[in-house]
Amino acid sequence: MDPHAAAPDPIPPDAAREAEIRAQMVKDLYDRGKVAIVVLLVLLGVIRWAVAPAYRVDGRLRGLFLVLIAVSLVRLAFMFIPHRRRMDLASIRTQFAAFAAGVALTSCTLGAMVFLAWPQMEAARIAILAVITSGLVSGAIMSLGFSPLVYMIYMLPPVGALFIRAVTDPRPAWGADILATSFAIYAVAVFVISLDQRRTRREAIALSLTLSDLVVRDTLTRLHNRRFLQEFMPLETARLARDATDLERGRQPERNTALGVYMLDLDFFKQVNDTHGHAAGDAVLKQTAQTLASALRRSDNLVRWGGEEFVAVAWVKRPEHARVVAEKLRRAVETTAFRLPDGRVLQKTVSLGFCVMPLVPGLQGQPAWEQALALADAALYRAKAEGRNRWVGVLQACPESLASPEAFSALIQDLPEAESGGRVLLDRAP
Ligand code: GH3
Ligand code: MG
Ligand code: MG
Repeated sequence: MDPHAAAPDPIPPDAAREAEIRAQMVKDLYDRGKVAIVVLLVLLGVIRWAVAPAYRVDGRLRGLFLVLIAVSLVRLAFMFIPHRRRMDLASIRTQFAAFAAGVALTSCTLGAMVFLAWPQMEAARIAILAVITSGLVSGAIMSLGFSPLVYMIYMLPPVGALFIRAVTDPRPAWGADILATSFAIYAVAVFVISLDQRRTRREAIALSLTLSDLVVRDTLTRLHNRRFLQEFMPLETARLARDATDLERGRQPERNTALGVYMLDLDFFKQVNDTHGHAAGDAVLKQTAQTLASALRRSDNLVRWGGEEFVAVAWVKRPEHARVVAEKLRRAVETTAFRLPDGRVLQKTVSLGFCVMPLVPGLQGQPAWEQALALADAALYRAKAEGRNRWVGVLQACPESLASPEAFSALIQDLPEAESGGRVLLDRAP
């Protein structure tokens, strides 16, 4: 298997961005379609009145009217399925196809009603029907802003029926030819507007995705940044709390039950800047981001903490497995050939400190994630002191060391002392 296949990609590729835009546009379509259908249901009463003379004598018209109501209600029901659930149920393509099919059924039914009712209708009713039909079509444009294809489907059957009937109407001199010309102009205008609407909407979505990226991603490495971690860590620790509740109630939490928090710092990174220049340093940082991301799973998270420091967060089956991830990350950097802008190749190493959550046996009185990170940082300091290109992990801490800010800062300031005093359990490579 390609070792990179399961890795989180720090740079969202164009295809992924395109999929995000499409998902957002289909969501728009369904969200705003709700309003359009409610309006349609209200207008059905007026349509029913406009076609009344034919409705009384023609059973086909009554059938079509029932179909229109039924289709509208079914479409409305689909639109109330929450977006997330809809994404689970069907692909974006299928959702779009379903939407277009609903639109097609509605507008064909409406078109057929117009066509059948026309010969029995006098000019006043025709005018009312024309206004309503045009209103529905332009309402669709205002509210959807998505796809010229959908507008075409919306527009063609009813406007087409009106056009054909107006052109071929044998009744003398009541302005049917003017009506037909107006429909033709209207149809073209609608299509042009829809093209422009779609472009504007796409640009707006792409811009908002870029902006939200800028907020949670580091611009150099494209990794997530601190702000992302600050939003994401409370969720992860909430999962731990949920596990605690499960255990209290005698249920076994079935997922991974330990969270490894890793702090990484490149060894002697200043040398890269000093010897090869800042651009070389930047290139090494970018490749480090790619290397670490490829070594992790897609469900893990990697953040550029600042400078040449990275934070990784990974779920593991048991606390003892946290070291496997640490070793994988260490090795990944060690075995990477870093390519500098001038073509030279460099070897670098990384030191890691990590902390496992839950840290206190028994799941109660766990440290906050910021404390876990501070412990990982203290362990990183140990790894540097013990010779670099290695990892040190904090596997357990006694509850007393976490109980007060003073005890905690004594713990992180002197990890070796706490280790010899039995207040923490550290993990190292043999
Ligand atoms: P140690 O093994 O002790 O970590 O040694 P070190 O040289 O890596 O020391 P330290 O972590 O203190 O140095 C970090 C250096 O990283 C300082 C700064 O010059 C460099 N640095 C931080 N951010 C960037 C950046 O965005 N680009 C570049 N090129 N260098 C950076
Ligand atoms: Mg540093
Ligand atoms: Mg460093």
